Order: sequence, then C-alpha cells, then structure tokens
Amino acid sequence: MRPTKTVGVYLFGRGVFDRLGERLAPRRGDGAPVVFFIDHVFAGGDLPRRLPVVDGDLTILVDTGHEPTTDQVDALHEQVRSLGRAPGTVVGIGGGATMDVAKAVANLLTNGGMAADYQGWDLVTRPAVYKIGVPTLSGTGAEASATCVMMNYAKNLKLGMNSPHTVYDELVLDPVLTAGAPRDQYFYTGQDTYIHCVESLAGGFRHPVADAYSREALNLTREVFLSGDMMSDENREKLMVASYLGGSAIGNSFVGLVHPFSAGLSVVLGLRHCVANCIVMEAMDDYYPDAVAEFRRMRAAQGVDLPRGVCAGLDAAGFERLHQSTIIHEKPLANALGPDFRDILTPARTAELFRRM
Ligand code: NAD
Ligand code: ZN
Repeated sequence: MRPTKTVGVYLFGRGVFDRLGERLAPRRGDGAPVVFFIDHVFAGGDLPRRLPVVDGDLTILVDTGHEPTTDQVDALHEQVRSLGRAPGTVVGIGGGATMDVAKAVANLLTNGGMAADYQGWDLVTRPAVYKIGVPTLSGTGAEASATCVMMNYAKNLKLGMNSPHTVYDELVLDPVLTAGAPRDQYFYTGQDTYIHCVESLAGGFRHPVADAYSREALNLTREVFLSGDMMSDENREKLMVASYLGGSAIGNSFVGLVHPFSAGLSVVLGLRHCVANCIVMEAMDDYYPDAVAEFRRMRAAQGVDLPRGVCAGLDAAGFERLHQSTIIHEKPLANALGPDFRDILTPARTAELFRRM
C-alpha cells in the first residue's frame, strides 16, 4: 500500500474567504508573486474584487466551458512563466476543473516539461509551488485528493497527475462561495461524493481510514439531498465537509461500476464527469439496487432532471467505443465484480446498460 498524504492545513467556515490575504502574507517574502486561478464564471462579479491581489500578482480566469485539457494546462503554465518571476503561491478558486488546473500548473512550475509527461502515478518528482485550494462547488473532492484530471486528446486519454505533490498544501473552505451555483450543477457535483462512497464501500477492496471517511461523507450527503432544500446555508456547509472527507478517501479507495461507465460517456459523447455519473447511476439497479433507489429519492426531493436516451443515436461502432472506454478501467471493475469482470461485462451487456441511460 502506498503512503497517504492529505491536506495539512485548512480554514473552514462562513466568510473565511476574506482571510485568504492573511494566509498568503507569510509567502510573499522577497516580493514573490501570487498566481490566482479563478473560474471564468466569476468574471465581472464580486469575487475577483475581493482577491487580496498586490502589484506583481497574476490573476488568470480559467475557461471551464470544458473539462481541463493537457494543452490548456501547458498554455497556462507558459502564461505564468512569462511573469519572469517564480510565484511563491498558486491559488485555485472554483470547482473541480479550476482546482485541478491550479494543481497541474503548480506541479509544472517546479518540474518543467509538459502536462502529458506527468499523467500517471508518481511521475512528479519535485514538490510543487505552495498551493491553496478554494472550492466554489462541493462534491468532486478535488480540494483534498492527490490527483488533477486532464483530458489528453492526442493520446485519447483522461488521466491525472497522481502524486503526493499534487495535494493542496492548504484549503480555504467557505460554504458561502457555493451559494450561487446553478441548482442542477450543485446536485450533479454533490452526487460525485455520494456515488464515489457507494461504489467504494460496496467494493472488494477495503481500507479502514477510507471507509471511515466514506461512511461519514455518505451520511452527510444523505442529510443534504433528502432534506427540503439542498442549498440551505446548513446544507452547503455539510456538503463542503462531505466533499472534503470523500476527497480524503479517494487515494485509498477504488470506485466501482459507475465511474468506468461514466468515463465511457465522457470519452465517446463528451458528457461531463458529474452529470455522466448521475446518468449512469439511473441504470445501475442490477448492481446497486438500494443506492439507486435512494439516488432517485434524492433527485425527486430536489426536483432535478437528467438527460435521457443519451446513447439513442449511436450505431454498433459507437457502442463498441463505449464498451472499450469502459472496460479499460480494470481496477474499479475488478473492485466491483471480481477479477473475472470481463465475463460479466460482455459487449452485449455493456450495450444493454448504455441503452438504459
Ligand atoms: P467544474 O469545475 O467543471 O464547473 C462546472 C460548472 O460550474 C462550470 O460552468 C463553472 O463555471 C460553474 N461553477 C463552479 N462554481 C460555481 C459557483 N459557485 N457559482 C456558479 N457557477 C459555478 O465542476 P465540478 O463538477 O466541481 O468539477 C468537475 C471536474 O472535476 C472535472 O474536470 C473532473 O474531471 C474533475 N474531478 C477531479 C477529481 C480530483 O480528485 N481531482 C475528482 C473528480 C472530478
Ligand atoms: Zn468522480
């Protein structure tokens, strides 16, 4: 088993965003600049104006109209290098996409090279620039995990820089920041925690610490999504805790069936991670009957819709691509179904499941 690294320092609570400047001050020695990556959705709003920016700092709006790509990370790395001075801190403010982009650039700034060079396990050799994560959406656990997921179109690969160096040094967890998220997005992303924990706890692989994190994350997501208003102040706070716990479990747990099928939908149909998970969940009655029933109750309680019939237009070649991009995820599938998962998930069987989505 690999050693586990989690985030060492965090501030939690309503309004702690305004203490970001205080956290940055000790790292500004010798005038080292700070680079702020902030989701482009906040452009023109109040949040960029509240950033503790001083002369020489750089603020970069991250285009999250798509999931992060290796090309995008390389271009942003170049932009930071053009500052001509090594930043003392990198700050990532946004959902999983922006937080992942900031993690990837911080790794490249000290390790050099291209983003694609580090897609895999333990390829990052030097500590990254000190980095602070500030989530504005809860659920992916990207604030706590040791990876940053990037699409690499040249290699037809979606993979992160899995490394202890990828973990944030510090977090500013302010539930006020998630108040403006679109309801559907808030639900889909929040369900990433629920689904991850369901898959992990139902699998064959066990890790006592990850299990403990996952069980409590699951309890919190149930409280949030089975309540009258998932976005109340109290529930946004609970979901932020759930996401942090779920993310802390990611390194020591394996997902199950939902994430591989979801990856298939992302690769072949371009559907985004969190909505794709929810679409897959609706078709998993045969494998996770209780969790799927509970997921439907949560969705009904919040009145959130999902796209239906997403594979309707596909021909045989399309279903074959879906099959291949699902079955490639051996570890989670073996975690869910055992080493002979290929005997169960035949091309006919995966096509049948995809048709239900
Ligand atoms: P996201 O970062 O992709 O953002 C989704 C949308 O929500 C964007 O349009 C964004 O502008 C908007 N948004 C974010 N915060 C908002 C706010 N407070 N108000 C209004 N709009 C807001 O969303 P996500 O679901 O958090 O992240 C998905 C990404 O996370 C994927 O790229 C996925 O690969 C990655 N991911 C990473 C990990 C990890 O451990 N590193 C785990 C799971 C998923
Ligand atoms: Zn996920």
